[in-house]
Amino acid sequence: MPEEAAGGILRIDLTALASNWRSLRDRAGGAETAAVVKANAYGTGIEEAVPALAAAGCRTFFVAHPGEALRARNAAPRTTVYVLNGLLPGSAGFYAAHDVRPVLGSWPEIEEWAAFCRSQGRRLEAAIHVDTGMNRLGLTVGEGLALAARPELKDFTPALLMSHFVGAEERDNPLNARQIETFAAVRNALPGIPASLANSSGIFLPQKPHFDLVRPGYALYGGNPTPGAENPMRAVVGLEGRIVQLRWVETGDTVGYNGRWIAGERRRIATVSVGYADGYPRSASAPGRSGEALATGMALVGGHPCPFAGTVSMDLLAVDVTGAPEGALARGEPVTLIGGPLTVDEVGRRAGTIGYEILTGLGDRYRRVYTGSAR
Ligand SMILES: *Cc1c(COP(=O)(O)O)cnc(C)c1O
Repeated sequence: MPEEAAGGILRIDLTALASNWRSLRDRAGGAETAAVVKANAYGTGIEEAVPALAAAGCRTFFVAHPGEALRARNAAPRTTVYVLNGLLPGSAGFYAAHDVRPVLGSWPEIEEWAAFCRSQGRRLEAAIHVDTGMNRLGLTVGEGLALAARPELKDFTPALLMSHFVGAEERDNPLNARQIETFAAVRNALPGIPASLANSSGIFLPQKPHFDLVRPGYALYGGNPTPGAENPMRAVVGLEGRIVQLRWVETGDTVGYNGRWIAGERRRIATVSVGYADGYPRSASAPGRSGEALATGMALVGGHPCPFAGTVSMDLLAVDVTGAPEGALARGEPVTLIGGPLTVDEVGRRAGTIGYEILTGLGDRYRRVYTGSAR
């Protein structure tokens, strides 16, 4: 999409992405460092992110859906691709045909994969997911402990034993230690299968639960895996909207739908060409009076922090630019929505959500500019 046709510019720094992968690898203490690239590589683009990660040395990728696996497979031939959401009925042939591996999370999935392998006369690889507290996907701990005795285990190649943290970003959550202990017990019952527990934040836990393979996602894309402490990762994503119009509003005037924002005095408003249809959350809207210190949306205009004014609409949002430098205020000038102090974590916080949702919501009406391609 050419710049003049797009409402905003999404900048994705593939050098920072590769650097984040290497820095996580260096922390993983000899464990293999995979990359989670589900949801279009957290909004950054599978076709660009996967080759950059593969060039950095990544050999194993995780996605959520078989369709994403196909894209990852095409972007990085000769790597291993796992589908986290598991095996839907009748889909084993798809996995085999495209050389991607399911993460089996229940007895019916294991039985179906084993039966498919018997019918093909091939011991195809798959991962096995054991639930250690999430109650979302995976065998129960009891089923995991009993697995070694099951004949189905001989029909395929269990290439990875995995579980998932409930809240590894909460460093002091006692659940972390309990999950690590439970997972280690299941692993001891299944010797010889490589094991994986840690997501991004799990890599940073004091227990260092790296096992044989770590599965970072968010931190690769610049999200802070250690909330409350300084972010050790490099920013990967930047977002700029553009000023469509500028206007002055007088005391008592309202801005936006339902008149939920009221000018407490004469203010200057910039209308910016990004809205919730672009994935910028409507929950970052700013009701109330100008000058109120609400934790709502914020933009940088000429480097100056400017609060949102009124409701984020579908294709536009309004920013109170009264304090911004005059030189930055013109039709077509850029407005930073993600960048500098407006990290993905900060934008998420201001919208009452998490940075993960900001990244994965990034829309397709932006011009996407990739820098530092590793290809
Ligand atoms: C999404 C996901 C990850 C990656 O988690 P981050 O917090 O983004 O690092 C790892 N493992 C599983 C099972 C996941 O669903």
